[in-house]
Amino acid sequence: MELRELGRTGLKLSTVGFGASPLGNVFGTVPEEQAIASVRFAFQSGINFFDTSPFYGGTLSETVLGKALKALNVPRSDYIVATKCGRYKEGFDFSAERVTKSVEESLERLQLDYVDILQCHDIEFGSLNQIVEETIPALQKLKEAGKTRFIGITGLPLEIYSYVLDRVPPGTLDVVLSYCHHCINDTTLEDLVPYLKSKGVGVINASPLAMGLLTEAGPPEWHPASAELKSACQAAATHCKEKGKNISKLALQYSLVNKDITSVLVGMRSVEQVEENVAAARELAASGIDEETLSEVENILKPVKNQSWPSGIQQS
Ligand code: NAD
Repeated sequence: MELRELGRTGLKLSTVGFGASPLGNVFGTVPEEQAIASVRFAFQSGINFFDTSPFYGGTLSETVLGKALKALNVPRSDYIVATKCGRYKEGFDFSAERVTKSVEESLERLQLDYVDILQCHDIEFGSLNQIVEETIPALQKLKEAGKTRFIGITGLPLEIYSYVLDRVPPGTLDVVLSYCHHCINDTTLEDLVPYLKSKGVGVINASPLAMGLLTEAGPPEWHPASAELKSACQAAATHCKEKGKNISKLALQYSLVNKDITSVLVGMRSVEQVEENVAAARELAASGIDEETLSEVENILKPVKNQSWPSGIQQS
């Protein structure tokens, strides 16, 4: 598995990262044994980056990931763990007090002394001014205290990144995690990458399968996409299947091609999925992407290209 450097952090992340939200039963029930086996197989296959949040499954994802990492029985420095703060099953709270307590709770669930990356989770649901003035300074203190090595922000609308990065001193943030904006149906993150690079932050791209839209099984019930977007993605998946191709493989490979993005976080729930995704990355490195099928899929998705959905609150 290829490793890429994350901005100026010195961390080297596997290009395929393990998204652990499915371990919180976000996409259907995942038995604990299956979750632990998936993490083990991922690590053995060269995946060294694992992303979770207290929000996923109301803390379940962190707890299960913690057990799975402990069961690896390898030195702590062999894997990179990212978690988040500010978003919980109960709602959002980006206060300094809550995020400071939050990391302690996460560390306990993860059975770790520190995380590698701590991110404010889905900041568009909080006041961006509070994020700049209160939350990020609190995360900096947690960094100084050794609870996390690096800090970052996550969220859906791309405008949040420049809003925050233009208001904090250079070098304050180490990483941004964007999702659903660098996949076959939505490539809007690409335009922002030069700006993010100029700010020296590492870029992580999550949800290459558009949270299940670009899978044969289709998205979960809660997926926020419009009916039009869902049905176009379904048509693309069916087209691939009829050709004997797999839309998920193509979608992951598509996201992996961009070398400015350090790691692509894909949510995985079984050894089989890990196997398929690792194979997709290896095949891409060996023989490139299936250009013909990609262009057919892009054509099917053209009417919904870059269509997203609302996320967050009105900022004052
Ligand atoms: P995704 O696009 O990675 O899709 C996940 C879905 O695809 C799951 O149902 C999974 O079981 C399925 N899948 C995975 N591999 C497959 C394969 N080979 N064939 C068929 N289906 C396959 O969406 P995601 O899980 O939401 O995103 C990945 C990770 O990124 C998350 O787990 C999370 O860690 C992170 N993330 C963070 C944020 C945020 O911080 N705001 C938002 C979204 C995602």
